[in-house]
Amino acid sequence: MRATTLEKLLRYTDDKELLNIYNELESGKIPNTSYAHDFCRKVNRMVDDGELCVGEGRYRHIYLPTLSKAVYKEMASRYATYLHNYKAPAEPVVYFESVQNGDADDDVRRCSWCNGEYDTSDLIPTDLGMLCETCITAIRSRGEDVCILV
Ligand SMILES: [Zn+2]
Repeated sequence: MRATTLEKLLRYTDDKELLNIYNELESGKIPNTSYAHDFCRKVNRMVDDGELCVGEGRYRHIYLPTLSKAVYKEMASRYATYLHNYKAPAEPVVYFESVQNGDADDDVRRCSWCNGEYDTSDLIPTDLGMLCETCITAIRSRGEDVCILV
């Protein structure tokens, strides 16, 4: 069986486990039951079994300083990869809804009588509401009065 190295072993260690070790190293609190010591023990078992060599083909036990150096290097490498692949989230797109008279088109309103769609400028404000010219003429022709509000 080909022996692996500490670097390769760390490369295939998952983010969460690596981060646990990193956090312990950063905090300086590394009890005997820590992830860091666990990892050292795992490495040293592999060294004993000839599955892992440290440095130039040498099979020797590692301790925290060696692990620490290798972990920081692996973290830096993962962070560089992360930055390389990082894409800033796109700017949020804000849609403004036209609330004017419930119509989607800005300048279109409805005549209060015939309900036809007209440009705002074509409707005339009256005491009966916004009316088109045709309706005003029709109402007046029936002998009713329409008061134009100016
Ligand atoms: Zn009308």
